[in-house]
Amino acid sequence: MVTPPVRRSALDLIGDTPLVLLDGPSRAAGCEIWGKCEFANPGASVKDRAALWIVRDAERRGALAPGGTIVEGTAGNTGIGLALVANALGYRTVIVMPETQSREKMDTLRALGAELVLVPAAPFSNPGHFVHTSRRLAEETPGAVWSNQFDNIANRKAHIEGTAEELWAQMEGRIDGFTCAAGTGGTIAGVGMGLKAHDEAVTIALTDPHGAALYNFYAHGELRAEGSSVAEGIGQSRITANLEGAPIDTQFRISDDEGIAWVGRLLQEEGLCLGLSSGINVAGAVALGRQLVAAGRKDARVATILCDTGFRYLSTLFNRAWLEAKGLRVFPWLA
Ligand code: PMP
Repeated sequence: MVTPPVRRSALDLIGDTPLVLLDGPSRAAGCEIWGKCEFANPGASVKDRAALWIVRDAERRGALAPGGTIVEGTAGNTGIGLALVANALGYRTVIVMPETQSREKMDTLRALGAELVLVPAAPFSNPGHFVHTSRRLAEETPGAVWSNQFDNIANRKAHIEGTAEELWAQMEGRIDGFTCAAGTGGTIAGVGMGLKAHDEAVTIALTDPHGAALYNFYAHGELRAEGSSVAEGIGQSRITANLEGAPIDTQFRISDDEGIAWVGRLLQEEGLCLGLSSGINVAGAVALGRQLVAAGRKDARVATILCDTGFRYLSTLFNRAWLEAKGLRVFPWLA
């Protein structure tokens, strides 16, 4: 028997996540599809990694000292990761979010001890937008640092130094393709750079949801969004600092219906309860696997990210009324 890992600090529970072979996706692709279990992080998402690297980077730069404050504009997983990391290291967390966000998200962040600042929803060009508000608040608060996850490349470093190295070791240096969707772009850029450093021949594919502009950017050189998506945490309309220089070889565009179909199959057939970005990633991994097999790589091995737990979406993705209101297919066991 292999002894399960032992950690001397809760912060060391971030990363070193298991990798699981996904049976249904592998059969659909005709080759091995592996999922990196990021829901196994303490905050139940991939963003714990970025939170830890951003905080450690701020400490190293001398921007964050004992008793300091971390400010971020986010409604999602990054806020959860930052709140947990801040608690473990003795910092305060201030999260700025639009007041239109779900009650569930506000309650979650408050439960973890983050201080919430709610602002009216506004376009990005408006100085009152929650991201700009969070930057100003950080500037005005003594001892505060702005996390700035989109353009702070400590985010992608978490994946160059962490996720990519883990994947390379877990797959014993035999990995043909990697794909995932982009929110900040930290994961796709960081894992892509980290894997390419080991083997230039690994195919790095961006999987884009509808309503995002990156598919057209990598396919045609033009940032242009088409359609829309209800997926949370992914869908980017600009080249963030984290995305700059990302080694993207190819790209897929995946609909919410395809992503939801995989969320349903992974739950029902494999007992994995995941969010929609994971379903979209798996759909992209199947597309990449098929493309590699069609190119003659019959024993291809593809990896993707299982970003967060589905338990975070009980009032949306796993709620019949919500699915119906969005015109999405209701899981048969909820109908
Ligand atoms: N999935 C979920 C659920 C997320 O919260 C995020 C983070 N925004 C992502 C995927 C994308 O990760 P990244 O920011 O590294 O592109």
